[in-house]
Amino acid sequence: MFAEVIINSNARALNRIFDYVIPKELEGQIKIGSRVFVPFGNSKIQKLEDGFVINIKQKSEFAENSKLKAIAKVDEKDSLTESNIELAKLMAYKYFCNISDCIKLMLPPGTGSKDSSKRMHEKTLNFVYLAKKYDEIIFELENSKRRSEKQTKIINFLKDNQGIYRPDLESIMEVTPSTIKTLADKGYVEFRAEPVKRNPFEHKEIKRDRPKKLNEEQQKCFDGIKKSIDSNYYSNNLIFGITGSGKTEIYMQLIKAVLDKGKSSIMLVPEISLTPQTIDRFLSRFGDKIAVLHSKLSQGERFDEWQKIKENKAQIVVGARSAIFAPVSNLGLIIIDEEHDTSYKSEMAPRYNVKDLANYMAKKNNIPLVLGSATPEISTFYYAKQSKLEDKKNKNYIDLYTLTHRANNAILPESKIVDMRQELHNGNKSMLSIELQEAIKNNLDNKEQTILFLNRRGFSTFIMCRDCGYVANCPNCNISLTYHKYSNLLKCHYCGHEEQVLTICPECQSTRIKYFGTGTQKLEEEINKLYPKATTIRMDLDTVTTKNSHEDILNRFKDEKIDILIGTQMIAKGHDFPNVTLVGVVSCDGQIGMPDYNGVERAFQTIVQVSGRSGRGTIPGRVILQTYNPDHYAITLAQKQDYIEFFNTEINFRKMLKYPPFCDIILIRFNGENLREVSLISSKIYLILNKIYEGSNNVIFKPVPAPVDKIKNNYRWRIIIKGKVTSKMIDSIRYAMDNVGKHNVQILVDINPSSLMWGRNGNS
Ligand code: ADP
Ligand code: ZN
Ligand code: ZN
Repeated sequence: MFAEVIINSNARALNRIFDYVIPKELEGQIKIGSRVFVPFGNSKIQKLEDGFVINIKQKSEFAENSKLKAIAKVDEKDSLTESNIELAKLMAYKYFCNISDCIKLMLPPGTGSKDSSKRMHEKTLNFVYLAKKYDEIIFELENSKRRSEKQTKIINFLKDNQGIYRPDLESIMEVTPSTIKTLADKGYVEFRAEPVKRNPFEHKEIKRDRPKKLNEEQQKCFDGIKKSIDSNYYSNNLIFGITGSGKTEIYMQLIKAVLDKGKSSIMLVPEISLTPQTIDRFLSRFGDKIAVLHSKLSQGERFDEWQKIKENKAQIVVGARSAIFAPVSNLGLIIIDEEHDTSYKSEMAPRYNVKDLANYMAKKNNIPLVLGSATPEISTFYYAKQSKLEDKKNKNYIDLYTLTHRANNAILPESKIVDMRQELHNGNKSMLSIELQEAIKNNLDNKEQTILFLNRRGFSTFIMCRDCGYVANCPNCNISLTYHKYSNLLKCHYCGHEEQVLTICPECQSTRIKYFGTGTQKLEEEINKLYPKATTIRMDLDTVTTKNSHEDILNRFKDEKIDILIGTQMIAKGHDFPNVTLVGVVSCDGQIGMPDYNGVERAFQTIVQVSGRSGRGTIPGRVILQTYNPDHYAITLAQKQDYIEFFNTEINFRKMLKYPPFCDIILIRFNGENLREVSLISSKIYLILNKIYEGSNNVIFKPVPAPVDKIKNNYRWRIIIKGKVTSKMIDSIRYAMDNVGKHNVQILVDINPSSLMWGRNGNS
C-alpha cells in the first residue's frame, strides 16, 4: 500500500505530493488525514519531515523505477479527518492555492509550527493549598513577632477553600502576589500544579437568559428551517431583516434545536462584530457549551477553545471566518450573520469565500445553512428571489424569510440628506454642513453622544503644488502620500514609507503648497476648533494599534461618555451605544466614486449600517448624510432604508453590464520587479486564454496595469475574466499558467474578489 503525503512546509519545492510506502505494521493505523513523519532528502543524516496523508492507493507509478521510502511514524493525536482533506483538496483546486496552506487552517492554533517545542501545550497553573495543619499555622502566626492580620485572614479563608486558583485568591483577599509568596516562603502554603483550561470568559458574571417567545414572522422562519434540522436535509436560507428585527433570537433557538439533537453548530460573525456584547448574549443563553474563536484571543486561549471543540466539550462555535474549520463533531447547523460582510472573503492565500465552503459543508452534512442580513449581498438576494420562481433542484436555491419590523419596537432614526454642493455655494468650506454643525451643538447641549463617520484616515488625501500641479507621491508605490498632522509626516498607506512634509515644491520651488481632501485627523481638528469644550475620540488604523485598542476606544466612548466618536469603517458595526442620538456621515461619496462593480452596493450597506448606530436607546435618533451626489439611488434609498428598491435598481445595472450574479469575476494578478516581464507574462496568459474562450460566453479583457500599479517597487498588472467559474474555466487558467515558460512573476488568481481595486484598501 502507498500513501500520498503532503509535507507540512512553506518551502515551495516541497509543495508537491510525494508517494511513500506504508509499512505493514502501520497499515491499520494510517488513514487519509493521518499526520505522519517521513524521511526526506538524500543526505546521509536523514531528517524526518512531518506531513499529512491525502490519499491511499494500491499502486504507485514511482514504485518501479525508484526506491520509495517508507513512512516512519504516525501521530494519531494531531491527525485530521478524511473530510478535512477532501475540503483542503477542493479549496486548493478552486482557489488556486497549495493544499498545505488549506490544511494549516484546519490544524489547532499554534501547531502549524514544525518544531514541537514551540507548539502550544495545555497550561499548568498554581493552585494554593495549606502546607501544614491549619492549627499549627495559626499557632505559629499568633506567636510570631510581627503578627499580620492579613496573613491570618488568608489562612482562615484557605481552611475552607483549599486548591483555589492563585490569582483568584489574590483578588478575593485583595492582596498582592507578594503576600501569598511570603506565606509560601514561611512554609504555610504551597502551590500545586494542575492542568486547567485557560478560560477567556472567567471573571465574567453572566446572567442567564431565556428564549423569547417568537413573533409570527420569526416563528415562520424558525419552523421552516427547523424542518430541515429535524429531517436531516440540506437547505440554504436567507433571513432578511433590519437590525433589531430578531435574527439573533432565531439563530439562538435554532442552535438550541440542534443541540437537543446532540449536534453542533457553527456561527460565523464578522471579526469586527465579535465584541464582548455579542459573545455575552450567547454565553448567557448557552453557558460553557460555547467556544469562541477570533484573533483577539491569545494563541493559548485559541488552542484551548479548539481543544474544547475537538473533545466535544463545546458544541457551539462562535467565530470569525476561519472558525468554519473548527473540528466540530456531528455538525448540525451553520449560520453566517451579516452575510454581506466583506470579511467572509479571504484576501490572503487561500483566497476562499467562506460562504461557498459553508454551502458545500451544509450539502455534505445534510444540514441547513442560514444567512442573515439587513442588507444582503445583491447576489444572495437575487438567488433567494429567483428561487421562488424556479425549481428547488437549482443548485443556488435559497429560501427567503423576511422580518419586517423591530422585535423590541425601537423606531428607526430619522435620516436627512445634505447637499454639500449647496453648502459650498453658500460659502461654507468646512467639512461639516451648517445643519450637521447645529445638530452636533444640540447634542452637546443635551449631553447626548454623536458618531461621525468618514471613510478616509489621515489629515488630507494629498498635497499638491498650486503653481505646477506637482503631487507628492510615494517613491515605492504609484500612489500619493497622505499627510499626518500629529507626526507632521507624509505617509504611504500601502508600504508605510514616511517622509518630511513639503514646504517647497521640488519641481518649481514654489512655496504655494496646498493640502487637498479630508481625513479623520482633519475632521477631528475641525471639531476641536468648532467645539473646544467637547471631548472627542478617534478610531481608525492610526489609533487602533495595540491588540485591544479597538475595544478600548469603544469602551471609553461608552463608559466615559465622550461626546464625539470619529472613525472609519471600524465604527460601523458591533457595539450598541444607547446614548448615541446623532450619526453624521461626513461623506457618502467615497465608495460610490470607485470604478468597482460593487462599490455602490458597499456604499449602500455602509450608510445603512452606520445609520443604524443612531437612536438605539430610548431617545429617537437622527442621521445626517452629507454628499455631493444627493440624487444617487444608493444614497436616497439608504436614507429611506429601502433595501428592496435598492436591489431592484442595482440588479438591473448588473444585468445590463453583466456583473455578478449574472457571471463570476476572475481576477488574475501579476506581480513582479521587472515591468517588462510582468507585461510579457500577462500578455502570454491573455493570448492563451483568449484563444480558448473564442466562441464561448466568457469575456476576457486585455492585461492592464492595476489601479495602483506599483507597490513596494513591484509592478502590478491584471486580467479580468467574466464568465462562470466551472472546472473547465479553472482548468483553462491552470493550463495557461503552466504554459508560459519560466519567469519571475507572481501570478495570483482571485475568484470573485470583494473589490477589483486591488491594493486600493490602504485607507481605513
Ligand atoms: P437582530 O439580530 O436582527 O439585530 P435581535 O435578535 O438582536 O435582532 O433582537 C433585537 C432585540 O429584540 C433584542 O434585545 C432581543 O432580545 C429582542 N427580541 C428578539 N426577538 C424577540 C421576541 N420574539 N420577543 C421579545 N423580544 C425579542
Ligand atoms: Zn510646483
Ligand atoms: Zn508606498
